[in-house]
Amino acid sequence: MGDLWRSQDLLQVFLVSIFLTAVPANNALGEKARSARRLLHLKSLLEHSATHDALTGLANRRLFKLRLNSLLIGGGPCTVLFIDLDRFKQVNDTLGHAAGDELLRAFSDRLVEVATDGAMVARFGGDEFAILIDGPMDPADQERLCRRINEVARLPFSLQRGLAHVSASIGLALAPETGADVSEVMRRADIALYAAKAARQEGWRVYNDGLDQTVRDKSSIEADLRAALLGDGQLQLLYQPKVDADNAIRGVEALLRWRHPALGLIPVHEVIALAEETGMILPLGAWVLGEALAFAGRWPHLNVAINVSPAQLRDGNFIADVLEAYHGAPIAYGRLELEVTETALMDDINVVSGKLAALRGAGIRIALDDFGTGYSSLRHLHRCAVDRVKIDQSFVNGLDGGNEAAAIVRAIIQLGHAMGLQVTAEGVETPAQRRFLLEAGVDELQGFLFSRPLEEAAFEGLMRDGRSVGGGGTSRKYTLLTGGLAP
Ligand code: C2E
Ligand code: MG
Ligand code: MG
Repeated sequence: MGDLWRSQDLLQVFLVSIFLTAVPANNALGEKARSARRLLHLKSLLEHSATHDALTGLANRRLFKLRLNSLLIGGGPCTVLFIDLDRFKQVNDTLGHAAGDELLRAFSDRLVEVATDGAMVARFGGDEFAILIDGPMDPADQERLCRRINEVARLPFSLQRGLAHVSASIGLALAPETGADVSEVMRRADIALYAAKAARQEGWRVYNDGLDQTVRDKSSIEADLRAALLGDGQLQLLYQPKVDADNAIRGVEALLRWRHPALGLIPVHEVIALAEETGMILPLGAWVLGEALAFAGRWPHLNVAINVSPAQLRDGNFIADVLEAYHGAPIAYGRLELEVTETALMDDINVVSGKLAALRGAGIRIALDDFGTGYSSLRHLHRCAVDRVKIDQSFVNGLDGGNEAAAIVRAIIQLGHAMGLQVTAEGVETPAQRRFLLEAGVDELQGFLFSRPLEEAAFEGLMRDGRSVGGGGTSRKYTLLTGGLAP
């Protein structure tokens, strides 16, 4: 913020000097008065832009802090709400950034409407909003306001590119009870917000001292992930076997785990979301690739798949980095597979398909993960050359329930084969599901029926003894693949 403010100052000086040189010295008095007025106008515009968010016109973080500071100095009670949209990232990823901006503008209008008179509504950036309320707020008032904010967040947003649904999480901090200093009040609102998000029940939390102990502030988890990346064994890849119709293990999918020393195992989608938010997805993705390539060197007859997030694919250096690691690793042509989701293909299709083509040209296979769950799956399959589709586990799961999932699964397999693709079914848990899938012609299966994701030592045991340690307790005989390139 300091830098931004300095650059605004510089911009102001620069514009003023241009303005003055544009006014000839022998100008008439009237012209001088007009230029003075224009200067004033320009100055107020610049002041406005330094204290307001350009997208929504709301106050920005700087103005919010100034106002909070003056309220705290005045000693009067006030309430700070931090609001964050859940699922906003998906809107950006699937409908594009312009749609994301449209949603933020619409949400800011709704917030202004529900905020009490005299409250300051601000946007700090991204999907982070805040409200500052001057005056006391009892618990009933707090609940009423949070409920309203949640209601207006959940109303569908009708955007030019389609309908979007989000919800809100809210953290509240009360002042002066919670400490009189601006940064402390804001830190506490942030912790309450983090607790509201972590509770995953789309609601709100009011800060209390207990939260400090139970919820680690987000930035410290971020720092912990950075430290974990330096390598002290907290990060780990598990390997889940993928088998063919004869139960031969053809390959594995590498799945990330982060065992935090204090918080324990953190759900992988949260790790990925945190890494994407903070830009750490690039070093994290590079770590996953490096580990998986090393594993591939120890298991030269297996195909090794890793997951790649849309944020990685978007990065300008991604292709060069992957190719460099791949060429430097002891892995055979055709053995590395990158699993991308359909979301990744929602970006500029020409750019994405060019990137995928560069990888495929080097012998890296591409699989479309969670196939069938994204938007307009068929269009993407048609326009992007890939090697494999992985039928999402929700369809495999649905096979037990009725005909619709069965029809979809059959159609995906037929379509995939018609396009010359391999088809994998994920999340296979029962012999009945396996039977159906094989009858329908699926090429590869993955799921707890065969094995859970395993540490490498357990995987080694499975390969040695030909027995699964997963599959709900039922051991299963495997044929081990000892040579030749899998299709
Ligand atoms: P995914 O790529 O679709 O991985 C399959 C997920 O299904 C894994 O969850 C796996 O443990 C689980 N699974 C496998 N078989 C069964 C089954 O029979 N039944 C059920 N109910 N589940 C099964 P996991 O490991 O929690 O990973 C979740 C998601 O996180 C992955 O979905 C992937 O999208 C993402 N992910 C995991 N590791 C990485 C990574 O290194 N990088 C990136 N970008 N994403 C990752
Ligand atoms: Mg996957
Ligand atoms: Mg999947």
